Amino acid sequence: MQLAARVGQVSPSLTLAISAKAKAMKADGLDVCSFSAGEPDFDTPAHIKAAAKQALDQGKTKYGPAAGEPKLRQAIANKLRQDNGLEYQPENIIVTNGGKHSLFGLMQALIEPGDDVIIPAPYWLSYPEMVKLAGGTPIIVQTDASTGYKITSEQLQAAITPQTKLFILNSPSNPTGMVYTPEELKALAQVIVERDILVVSDEIYEKILYDGAQHLSIGAIGSDIFQRTITSNGFAKAYSMTGWRVGYLAGAVDLIKAVTTIQSHSTSNVCTFAQYGAIAALENPQDCVEEMRLAFAKRRQVIYERLNNISGIRCSQPNGAFYVFADISKTGLQSLEFCNRLLEAEKVATVPGIAFGVDNCIRLSYATDMPSIEKGMDRLEKFVRQLS
Ligand SMILES: *Cc1c(COP(=O)(O)O)cnc(C)c1O
Repeated sequence: MQLAARVGQVSPSLTLAISAKAKAMKADGLDVCSFSAGEPDFDTPAHIKAAAKQALDQGKTKYGPAAGEPKLRQAIANKLRQDNGLEYQPENIIVTNGGKHSLFGLMQALIEPGDDVIIPAPYWLSYPEMVKLAGGTPIIVQTDASTGYKITSEQLQAAITPQTKLFILNSPSNPTGMVYTPEELKALAQVIVERDILVVSDEIYEKILYDGAQHLSIGAIGSDIFQRTITSNGFAKAYSMTGWRVGYLAGAVDLIKAVTTIQSHSTSNVCTFAQYGAIAALENPQDCVEEMRLAFAKRRQVIYERLNNISGIRCSQPNGAFYVFADISKTGLQSLEFCNRLLEAEKVATVPGIAFGVDNCIRLSYATDMPSIEKGMDRLEKFVRQLS
């Protein structure tokens, strides 16, 4: 069949493909240790589920406004003010089908042929594809371990051209787990303002921080940068609500209106009763977020130490999210071959760095239980030893 040219330019999500392969091996009865998951392994907290169940029973089962339930948009505005120091009104906010859909809608509303979008590598693998689907050109800026895989203000400055429309910032980062410091963010904000481009700040991991790392929303630095910032976030990672599909985008009213128009002709409103779960997530005590964070923190310590004890593997200690990005260049293998052979030989699932634009690394998610982490590290150690 003759498909539209636009699909020829994008590739399917490699992380979803590898997770699926590992799940299929598990379903076949194989004892797989999976470090490929991009989602928390905890159940959604009970009070959030109860609120959605109650909404169902109360008949919140109909179409709602395309931009989201007014009560949820208000709760998000309150959250952004209190947690992030961002002054948004409900009309600055659209509720979307997850953080991924927020970014997709944004690209559709903002980007067109001739527009360049700056994306630091390693990047979340959907960013370049979303830019291409909107007709824009992703401009990839390579970073490395020397800066903790963070783009510097000098690199950003050098990458900007008259075609640059948008810069995509993700802190804490997937896949590296690195968090930009307030100083680094201020330096980036200065370049964004001086060169008059826009920034979208993907803050989906803002609650998952370690070792006293601070999350600063770039839009909160000052009014000049605020006007040039679009903030993207969601419930998936902080509240373990990946399957619920609730996220949001906050920005200028005309932009949010445009994204809402697109959403009204594509998905309409986000699942109505799921939005009531999201309201409960925001309006109740945040202990569940902290409990999950503490569990991640313990695992992070173990996986980081075990990885660095394997000769041939090096990683820096991440201070956010639930990933480690490990350098495998000393093994002599490229990332895809490394991950495939590791899965075949030792039944350990990881994600090749090439999926994120960096081929000498692999991503390991520690959103899995401690015994699996220990067992998986034993197997990884054996695998790397046998390579040499
Ligand atoms: C998981 C993730 C998202 C959004 O996920 P949703 O499930 O669509 O809310 C956005 N950005 C990054 C970097 C992520 O890892």
